[in-house]
Amino acid sequence: MRRYTLGWSGLLVLLSIAPVGTAEIPWYEDRLIGMEVGPTGAQWGSDPRDTGYAAGFSGAEIIAKQIESGSEYLVLWGRDGEWAYYDSKLMPKAPGLGERDPLREAVDAAQAHDLPVIVYCVVQSGGHALKEHPEFSMVGADGQVIPNRVCLNGPYRDYIKGLLSEMMAYGVDGFHVDMVDQGFGPPYGCYCDTCLAKAASAHVELPRTVSWDKAWEEMLEFRYETSADFERDIRAFVKQADSGISIDFNYHGYPPFSFEVGQRPVQHAHIGDFVTCESGTWGFGALGSGLTAEFVRATGPGRRYQVVMQRGTRFYHDQTSRPLTDLRWEMFSLLAHGAQVTIVDKTPFSGAMDPVAYGRIHDLFDEVHAKREHFGQAPVYEAALYYSQRARDWYGREEKEKYQHPFFGAHLAMAYAHVPVGVALDEILSEESLRPFPVVILPNVAIVSPEEASIFEAYVRAGGCLIVTGLTGCYDHWGNPAEHSTMEELIGAKLVRMMPDRDNYLRLSALPDTLQPLADEVPLDWPHLIYGPAAIYEPTTALAAGDLVAPVRRQRQKEGIEGTSFPSSAGEPAGPGVLLNTLGKGRVLTFAVAPGAAMGSEYRTSEARKLLRNAMRILQPEPRIKIEAPTFVETTVTDDADAKTLRVHFVGYPTPPGITEAKRPWILPGLVEDIPLYRATLTTKESITRAEAITSSTEINATEHTVDLTINDIHDVVLLQYESEAD
Ligand SMILES: [Zn+2]
Repeated sequence: MRRYTLGWSGLLVLLSIAPVGTAEIPWYEDRLIGMEVGPTGAQWGSDPRDTGYAAGFSGAEIIAKQIESGSEYLVLWGRDGEWAYYDSKLMPKAPGLGERDPLREAVDAAQAHDLPVIVYCVVQSGGHALKEHPEFSMVGADGQVIPNRVCLNGPYRDYIKGLLSEMMAYGVDGFHVDMVDQGFGPPYGCYCDTCLAKAASAHVELPRTVSWDKAWEEMLEFRYETSADFERDIRAFVKQADSGISIDFNYHGYPPFSFEVGQRPVQHAHIGDFVTCESGTWGFGALGSGLTAEFVRATGPGRRYQVVMQRGTRFYHDQTSRPLTDLRWEMFSLLAHGAQVTIVDKTPFSGAMDPVAYGRIHDLFDEVHAKREHFGQAPVYEAALYYSQRARDWYGREEKEKYQHPFFGAHLAMAYAHVPVGVALDEILSEESLRPFPVVILPNVAIVSPEEASIFEAYVRAGGCLIVTGLTGCYDHWGNPAEHSTMEELIGAKLVRMMPDRDNYLRLSALPDTLQPLADEVPLDWPHLIYGPAAIYEPTTALAAGDLVAPVRRQRQKEGIEGTSFPSSAGEPAGPGVLLNTLGKGRVLTFAVAPGAAMGSEYRTSEARKLLRNAMRILQPEPRIKIEAPTFVETTVTDDADAKTLRVHFVGYPTPPGITEAKRPWILPGLVEDIPLYRATLTTKESITRAEAITSSTEINATEHTVDLTINDIHDVVLLQYESEAD
């Protein structure tokens, strides 16, 4: 493969991490934006008589478009389930290509430019390979083949290696392997002879039913190891051939994915050279872009992470082109969270390039290049959202939303309140991993092991703070309801029992001084619905306030004639609403209800999210930087400690009102077409010596600790030069 020389900024980074004399670093370490280009027309199968398909898919033209638009790397479609897009001996080439070989064209054309060519190689589904080789199939518990799924332990591995070998011979710079999933739901596999033998050699008998016990734990472990082993094997194969070729796997260990995929958040993130995954409102919600970037950042502190967006509205191949404003919103959301960003372009059926899409991408990339120096600094966090893989699998089980929604809701509450949050993961939990976060939020983390609880205790005693919600700690290792919570010492209360349903209410009244801020914009003496799980506690050392209020249960509900899924009105108090416990130098604030769950539900309220915001302000009354801005603006904060410069990124998301489509619940938000105009205020702990916005239309007024802003753009960055206390 070719090597690339570095600009000055890249070289400075390199000198700090690599021995002198190796002034070559992999492409993925210093590139910021790139594209993935593939054809549209074979994604649901393909007929060879459609000879117009991909006929104009030209490697040379794709390279030219990359150079013209300012793309810094290309991920080129090399193989999907149906066809190869190069002269392969193992697979038929897309017939419309005739004698042409787009991969050859692209690699040749890229020679004249500083543009790495990465090849996209599909693993999932099987397609042509499964038709020719039924023995590659995944097998279900009933012994029957699971259609369109491949076994990752079987001979399909060698087939993939054969394809990679063919493509390596072109002198490519890397591979993007998509995707190493084991399906997105039942039936679960694999029970083929290879897998059964492999399990037997590890003294494991794969259970034939979903049992959520020791046997099922071994099954999940077997599946996780299958995914990891496949990736390690493919990686080793490529690196052995040429250690300079990069390899990455499209990652699916992040929410909303769960155990069914066969990936864990940490275990499967960095087996390739870097982690990469997908974002987009169509599958992850608008806040999902920033959250996904933070989540993958957390999977490997200090490692490179890439997030992929698309130029279309709904789903990759749809041939729509989002307006530039909408693309700018997502691009700068991702960059502000420190990600490397790939834009997917699926060409029309003919394989030609869409001129309008590329015009917009050109303008977008121009803006990124101009702003480049403002991305990649160290994040400043006020809190971490704790995400437990164990609770995801064993509490969420086959209703993963039970676990995921409270996490999403807590993130939303922090994003709307402009509290900068990162993510902390149970797989790599340690006291040290929590130290960068003044507060850790546990959104209905139903399973907390005694080991995790003792790490939390050490963190709190050393001065850390926790916000505990819902049923955190109330389930055992196997995801069954427990008699005692593992969090009782930390909460300062005993678990009496869990509420049976989700229509639970909170009433704040006569709050002690320390808890007064809870009532900021949350009315007192008013039971309000916090739809989600809740627990009744009996305080031991904690200060208790307010009430958890049980719902009214009408006679028909008591007799089981009528269900409880629609919330009933507030009834009688059942236990304390809020608990505040001091432990060593730290504090634990517990809600008997789950405000994050409410925000992730259909019964979201403004009060639910404000409770979480107010809890943050009790535990962190004077954060390093306090941001006031509208809820439609997402903010992130970074610190360049050497230059004593804080950067606050503002990314507006002014979406116009939409309609409910006929086919519910496919409701996409409107496209961003307007440029927002809004006010924001920053309040800092440190003294500010200079404040500057990089967008000329921004009005800025600064005093020593306050910066008032009027912003009129999708994205702006405000630079604050500060004096540290030693100055
Ligand atoms: Zn198998």
